[in-house]
Amino acid sequence: MKTEQLSIHSRESAVSGAAVEPTLPHCERNARATDSNGLPAKVKPALALFIMVDAMGWEILRHDSFGQDFAPLRKRLDSVFGYSSTCVPSILSGRWPVEHRNWCYFVHDPKNSPFRSLRPLRWLPRALTSRRIFRRWLTKLVRVQLKFRGYFDLYNIPFRHIHQYDFTEKRSPLQPGGMNRGENIFDFLVAQHTPYFVSDPARSEEQNRDALLAQLGEGQVEFAFLYWPGLDGLLHRVGNDSPEIPAKLRVYEQWIQQLLTAARGPYEEVQLYVFSDHGMANCDEHVDLMQRIEALPLRMERDYAVVYDSTMARFWFFNDRARDLITAELKCVPQGRIVPDAELEQHHTLFTDRYFGELIFLMREGVLIVPSHMGERPIRAMHGYHPFDKHSYAALLTNQPDIPATVTAIPHICDLMKRAVLLARKSKAVPAEPAPV
Ligand SMILES: [Zn+2]
Repeated sequence: MKTEQLSIHSRESAVSGAAVEPTLPHCERNARATDSNGLPAKVKPALALFIMVDAMGWEILRHDSFGQDFAPLRKRLDSVFGYSSTCVPSILSGRWPVEHRNWCYFVHDPKNSPFRSLRPLRWLPRALTSRRIFRRWLTKLVRVQLKFRGYFDLYNIPFRHIHQYDFTEKRSPLQPGGMNRGENIFDFLVAQHTPYFVSDPARSEEQNRDALLAQLGEGQVEFAFLYWPGLDGLLHRVGNDSPEIPAKLRVYEQWIQQLLTAARGPYEEVQLYVFSDHGMANCDEHVDLMQRIEALPLRMERDYAVVYDSTMARFWFFNDRARDLITAELKCVPQGRIVPDAELEQHHTLFTDRYFGELIFLMREGVLIVPSHMGERPIRAMHGYHPFDKHSYAALLTNQPDIPATVTAIPHICDLMKRAVLLARKSKAVPAEPAPV
């Protein structure tokens, strides 16, 4: 369990339950052992509850009544250009990819590649090495061996070239010190001595829900970040118009109601925010970009390097001929386009050192690169298209009376998190003298 027991303990020692009590008149303090209904006394003024439902995009929510009972205020948010590998760190840090440098998972960086030991696997038959079950097993082994703390997947990176690549999420953005650059909300919570809960990605949605339920019942935490990835997986599999999607949303509604019920005892108020990182587009067209590039009179490693993500391809060039030939070839692919620097800059993904690629080729919404370095076979739906494409938009729902006008994109959710923590702090500020009895 990744619940930060340490921070819970440091919080309890810094501000004990008794320290909160002097804000109440003596008679009321006694009355709070149980309330008028015989329920347990409130032990915390406020809980900031942030629930991230992966891929619950605006287009999915727009026509659904999701959350109207417990979070009636809703707003469409811009996502961040890229995948969850950048959306989640942007939410947790309140900053953009160029600032935190958690963008795409794999980069061409042979000097720093930790994967040299995997190269001999290139001699294994492709029928085995391209199988998802084999890749998953190997991923687990490599993650432990390389001491990666964040999300890690070998995906479908060819073993022939794997020593050319580095993986950019070696730490977990769900922990303090987890960003490639700068701080995240968990660093902030530690600095504020705020006891908090955070989901453990190694556990199931239900296990994380239950772990939080147990802590809410005790009033142990003041802030919770719950991460539910199940809808994302389901959407990838069945697409965004399947009846399974609203059914899954109904399940999430029940879970959230359970959490609110559990919090009602120990907390005087729950500030609830339910949100997503991006949406999901159905993929009805596939393009074999890899075959087109490999047909050129160029050699990977000698002339160029590339990562084929599922909706974009990122290239590094080692000579002008490779740059010219590949650029000319990409201009003949009608299903995608080279993203100009000005546009990358507009979306805070123009890295001046070109660490994540010198040229970014992005597919039109609904077009999937198959095969890619992310997967051998097609999937029904995908995200990671242009942030202004219809199905890219994220959503934010809350039970709070307002969402500030400055909250327009998913990194701004971090501002709401900090605001909620500081508001809770204010509401329990103790007066210099005990209140008169
Ligand atoms: Zn996904």
